[in-house]
Amino acid sequence: FSPALALQLKERLLIETQLRRAIENEEFHLVYQPKIDLVDGRVIGAEALLRWRSRVLGDLPPDTFIPIAETSGDIVRIGAWVLDQACRQLREWHDGGLVLGHVAVNVSFRQFLGEHFERSVRGSLEASGLPAHSLELEMTERALIEDAPATEHTLDRLRELGVAISIDDFGEGYSALGYLRRLPIAGIKISHNFMHGVPSNPTDAKLCEAILQMARALNLSVVAEGVETTEQRDFLLQLGARYAQGYYFARPLAPPEFERFVRERMGG
Ligand code: C2E
Ligand code: CA
Repeated sequence: FSPALALQLKERLLIETQLRRAIENEEFHLVYQPKIDLVDGRVIGAEALLRWRSRVLGDLPPDTFIPIAETSGDIVRIGAWVLDQACRQLREWHDGGLVLGHVAVNVSFRQFLGEHFERSVRGSLEASGLPAHSLELEMTERALIEDAPATEHTLDRLRELGVAISIDDFGEGYSALGYLRRLPIAGIKISHNFMHGVPSNPTDAKLCEAILQMARALNLSVVAEGVETTEQRDFLLQLGARYAQGYYFARPLAPPEFERFVRERMGG
């Protein structure tokens, strides 16, 4: 038990304590990253990404506090807040005449496996009056592999509702493809880790190509994540990939900036 470890634990505890009050203290907000149609440049949707500005700790990136919220269980409440907020925002954009297909929300495995998840999704849709097909849930493979029967049931219910499920960070960590056959998955997002080496690294390029072929064969939609350069965009277009996200197009944006971005692209 070293002093460094003690410090880490203390920090963790501090984050955990602050996190518990973050919703009440209105310290969270969402930013939105456009999803782009590579063929015509249109914005097809937005991914909502959580940001935390703590009064005590300052700005913390999601990678630091989400794992802690997962362990403490707070992710269930926080995730419900994100769903609610994202649905409201899309509804507001729709009401303002902004043409936007869907909003995508990240769902942690712990949140998904919680007993009230489906109810929380329904609640957010009802409160916002948004049609279910305007909501997409991005989940990592982890949630789909653990606890199979319960997962299958929840996914079936969500599909009946009309919500789309896509697999986030596809290709990272797990390689159990069986669930693609079993579960009602609409699409996958190719992990930005593969995009890094594209097109110069032949292995990354081949992997990317193979994932696209597989997705096509299985009739899954594909979004390539982490596109930062013209070369990457051209590579994807050459392979027939249709949708992408990344700094090349836009960083995650606050709602007013997002709206401006979409209106400029859509020519109005
Ligand atoms: P993710 O779902 O893989 O989200 C994509 C991350 O890549 C985002 O980081 C985004 O800002 C970043 N990104 C987008 N384009 C580029 C690019 O061109 N290059 C590079 N290098 N990065 C890019 P962010 O916002 O820091 O989020 C990190 C992770 O935190 C997310 O990874 C997601 O797993 C998690 N997360 C964020 N918001 C939520 C949430 O509301 N609920 C849950 N459960 N997880 C969330
Ligand atoms: Ca995501």
